[in-house]
Amino acid sequence: MSEMVSVLECASCGQLDPGPRGNCTACYGTDLIVRNVESSGQLISWTMIRRPPTAFRDDGPYAVAVVKLDVGVQVTGRLDPMAAEPAPGSRVVALTHQSDVPVFSPSE
Ligand SMILES: [Zn+2]
Repeated sequence: MSEMVSVLECASCGQLDPGPRGNCTACYGTDLIVRNVESSGQLISWTMIRRPPTAFRDDGPYAVAVVKLDVGVQVTGRLDPMAAEPAPGSRVVALTHQSDVPVFSPSE
């Protein structure tokens, strides 16, 4: 079962943004609403974090991924540690969250 991902949607123009942010980058509107969107998308890139910052020390090592969601916004998340090293461009979906961050797995 795939998880949803929280992003911001501008109430004025509808642009999606990964947030957190106080203003829309398209129209500078300040009315940004939290939306849960489908997590399916395309892996842009990823890297392994072997020495995490203090707040995430107990989670490490973990892989940070940049994913362009099918709804049209690019977000950061993590990669499932059990996934083989996925190629940029491959299809992914978030199946769980870790420390409130979506964890993506290969979907095809
Ligand atoms: Zn806007």
